[in-house]
Amino acid sequence: MKGAAALLAGALCLIASGCRARANSPEQAEAKAAASASAALAVTADAHARDAAAEDAAPDAEPAPRGPLNVLLILIDSLRYDMPWNGYSRPIAPFLTEYEKRVVSYTRAYTISSTTARSVAPMLAGRYPSEMRRGGYFFTQWHPDNELLPERLAEEGHARFGVFAHTYFHAGTGVVQGLDPAKMLSGTVLNNLSPKHITSERIALAARKLMSKPKIGDQSEGRRFFGYLHFMDPHAPYLAHEGRPSWGNRPRDLYDQEVHFTDEHVGKLITWIKQQPFGEDTAIIITADHGESFGEHGHLKHGYELWEELVRVPLFIDVPGAKPRRIDTPRSHIDLRRTILELMNVSETADTRGKSLVPELFGAEPEPRVVVCDLPRDNLQDRRRAVIDGRYKMIGIGDDRRLLYFDVVADPGETKRLNTEDPEGFERMRRVYEAVDKDIPVRDVSGDDPPLFNAPAGRRW
Ligand SMILES: [Zn+2]
Repeated sequence: MKGAAALLAGALCLIASGCRARANSPEQAEAKAAASASAALAVTADAHARDAAAEDAAPDAEPAPRGPLNVLLILIDSLRYDMPWNGYSRPIAPFLTEYEKRVVSYTRAYTISSTTARSVAPMLAGRYPSEMRRGGYFFTQWHPDNELLPERLAEEGHARFGVFAHTYFHAGTGVVQGLDPAKMLSGTVLNNLSPKHITSERIALAARKLMSKPKIGDQSEGRRFFGYLHFMDPHAPYLAHEGRPSWGNRPRDLYDQEVHFTDEHVGKLITWIKQQPFGEDTAIIITADHGESFGEHGHLKHGYELWEELVRVPLFIDVPGAKPRRIDTPRSHIDLRRTILELMNVSETADTRGKSLVPELFGAEPEPRVVVCDLPRDNLQDRRRAVIDGRYKMIGIGDDRRLLYFDVVADPGETKRLNTEDPEGFERMRRVYEAVDKDIPVRDVSGDDPPLFNAPAGRRW
């Protein structure tokens, strides 16, 4: 088992507060020109209808979703925050670049951790990985005691489905608890090196088929669905796509082509959803499970550190009736569980963290909150933890033996440590970090007994 886990790890990479007006950069204009006409038109028409509805509402009415809604959660694996709508110069995501103007878009959203195996189950549980019952291997097994979002929805009789194309999402890891079905694309293998494992089109098709089934798409008697789609193509290895814009053959160039391909199929799926009878009652969330490194800080891929390129991701929330806007306040995926529950009019019964984002989706001023990224120790790596408070970030290495302090607004590349340059700020962030450490216990791992990387003798975490 130990050898197998190490092999898996090696083979795969393993898996300011306030709002501002939108800038219309040359890059955005270029991306707009490249956008699929039909997709853009469909989205634009929908947004216009939504804007008109919002303007018709009485000015003093309490803004709220027209619920209960279906929620489709789309995770695009390894999707970095630097995208065309955020200033990236290549038009690698024509659909999403247009769509971003029609949704509530978080410009500083953070994942809970930097690998699928540490970010997805915690997001669905509304807990940090360190405090959840889990095994000690890199490809984390989650104990059945952890209550994931789909399990809560099952208690209320709502449909829950997922579509996956990576072997981590098998039932044995506990990450798909409560999804029915948790569909794995046929032919999914761990070592996804061949073009056969380009899967975005098949994931979108499988999702359409599932939503077309009366068991899921039927909205009678208050029935709603939650769908979780995990698009894998931007994950390494980066494969070339013929007939698409090409930016070269370096890893980032090929990754950009994978994003372009995924963007098209996500776009077609969303356009289709908007045309369905349930389209007007469906909220769509698009984000990533983590980012990706292309040599920054001497790293490639993801899963071992908490640098911005690894944990800062796009986050779009498209809720019928909500006005499009950008929110620059730092936010975490820890809030998604409670947000989805509120959109579906389901109460929270578990002891979870996070706060529903629904009020700010409907215009409330986003309050500042500390964001936490958490990468507990496992058999392959030491622990990392990071806190983000406004423009500042502190990363703890190992058992907090080393603290790194950055201004990630001025320096998103985290190239300049401010530990000694700003001693007062360092001390303030150290206190924030220590308060978070106290608040989030690290529980022992259970199950198989792998030796944990750098753990002091006898320690099980
Ligand atoms: Zn991933």
